[in-house]
Amino acid sequence: MPQAKLQVKLLAGTPNAMSLIYAAFRQCYSPGFVGDLWPRLVNGEVSSQEQAGFIAKVLESGHDSPVEHVSYSFAVEGISRALTHQLVRHRIASYSQQSQRYVDESDFDYIVPPAIARVPEAVMKFEEFMAAVGEAYTGLKEILQEHGQGKKANEDARFVLPQAAESKIVLTMNCRSLIHFFELRCCERAQWEIRKMAWKMLKILRQELPVIFAKAGPRCERLGYCPEGEKFTCGKMPLQKSTGQSRTKV
Ligand SMILES: Cc1cc2nc3c(=O)[nH]c(=O)nc-3n(C[C@H](O)[C@H](O)[C@H](O)COP(=O)(O)OP(=O)(O)OC[C@H]3O[C@@H](n4cnc5c(N)ncnc54)[C@H](O)[C@@H]3O)c2cc1C
Repeated sequence: MPQAKLQVKLLAGTPNAMSLIYAAFRQCYSPGFVGDLWPRLVNGEVSSQEQAGFIAKVLESGHDSPVEHVSYSFAVEGISRALTHQLVRHRIASYSQQSQRYVDESDFDYIVPPAIARVPEAVMKFEEFMAAVGEAYTGLKEILQEHGQGKKANEDARFVLPQAAESKIVLTMNCRSLIHFFELRCCERAQWEIRKMAWKMLKILRQELPVIFAKAGPRCERLGYCPEGEKFTCGKMPLQKSTGQSRTKV
């Protein structure tokens, strides 16, 4: 039952991502058919700089929907069930998560929060509990199997597993959803584990598609002030009231 380490891997992204976003924007403003323009976009006749410049300008106007045509899929491991429960609240996305019904968890890995890892006494308590849960899980499975549950024993024995139990998930989001996800989850107010994962995803996407993701990140970076209010602000940005802004765009 070792501690698990976070890994974020980009599995796939929509091909010709920038050209696709450019084409979608162009179709909105052009009398012509972008289907005819498409070959010129993908063979480089319209330069990347021109495409990127156009996209950046239109995005500033708040016209966001064309970025929904491009999606990215990530595989993530070494995350807790506490994290995945928060992650799947983001509804504009698709998920495939390792099942605790079908996968035996007798030797489950777990995530140790850094605040616990820093205190030896807390680590001891935490690990003792993980070991006790492991024993309870395997004990329950044996009992359930003896009572005819067979392979279905996992299904009920998993009720004793902790939120710290390690999970693996494949997730897909389109660019608009990703930008929104980063605004919420790269913020210092977000919980440490999902924030760590979000920053790793963003780092990858800044390389993949800088025209969309170079400026993505916590909401305060777009707004120029902190929308979290006095109680929750991390203090990096001025508060909304001190900027004279009257409304937060969510
Ligand atoms: C710091 C922080 C603390 C949080 N604390 C809690 C908490 O204590 N308890 C809790 O339950 N959750 C909490 N959440 C989760 C939060 O309420 C959202 O469920 C989560 O962040 C997903 O965001 P979303 O709904 O905007 O994303 P998505 O589900 O991906 O939706 C994206 C956008 O689509 C639109 N949309 C989607 N579905 C609907 C709909 N049904 N109706 C109207 N518009 C829709 C909205 O504009 C939404 O912003 C917290 C989140 C954060 C970042």
